[in-house]
Amino acid sequence: MNQLLPEAILVTALHQDTPDLRRAIIETARALALNGLTKGTSGNVSARTQTGFLITPSGIPYEALTEELIVAMDLDGGYFGETLPSSEWRMHLDIYRHQPEAGAIVHCHSPRATALSCLRRGIPAFHYMVAIAGGERIDCAAYATFGTRALSQTMLEALEGRRACLLANHGQIAYGPNLARALSLAEGVEELADQYLSALSVGEPTLLGHDEMTENLRKFRNYGKQPDEQDPDAGAAFELPVKKG
Ligand code: 13P
Ligand code: ZN
Repeated sequence: MNQLLPEAILVTALHQDTPDLRRAIIETARALALNGLTKGTSGNVSARTQTGFLITPSGIPYEALTEELIVAMDLDGGYFGETLPSSEWRMHLDIYRHQPEAGAIVHCHSPRATALSCLRRGIPAFHYMVAIAGGERIDCAAYATFGTRALSQTMLEALEGRRACLLANHGQIAYGPNLARALSLAEGVEELADQYLSALSVGEPTLLGHDEMTENLRKFRNYGKQPDEQDPDAGAAFELPVKKG
């Protein structure tokens, strides 16, 4: 058992290693390609299991993936089976070890986030939606070679307090409680990078301040939740109309 993760929290994020989870990883990887977030063999996808995590194999095109080619790993960095895991297994391992709420991870070279990462710029609070990653900005990790422990280290620093970051001259990585949420965050980061680059192409965007972003982060805690799911400590996400029926 990994000492960094309190068992009570870990248990809430565990999946079983089943053909269904392996299929969901393949579908998430293919959705990346379908949605224009990746091409060829760029990027990788994983989901936490009771014994570690399942991850896409290294260098195999998404259209060729089968359930058997998805690789099981433990939280000590061991892998099982004949197929090599993604070259970025250490980034995935380190997120699962350090972030108890991470249930799934998506890494991709989405075009606009990658373009921004080549400028070695993160995404500041130019738009309230920057709060989707859980903080006031989305950082760009310092450059390190792909598939190295050094890259994982710079990624961890850039993820401090947030669920997504850019990777310099490389792409982006995002995590969430499940595959759908991790994919949706990666899509959100790409959209923000696109909007930020568009704004930068004609001027310097006005940034939101700390108080404005604090308020946006509070509102996000209940945004998208129905009345019975709301966190009473966070207050309403918006002025609620009177329910008359
Ligand atoms: P893998 O095919 O090894 O997952 O590598 C893709 C990638 O994006 C490396 O950063
Ligand atoms: Zn990559």
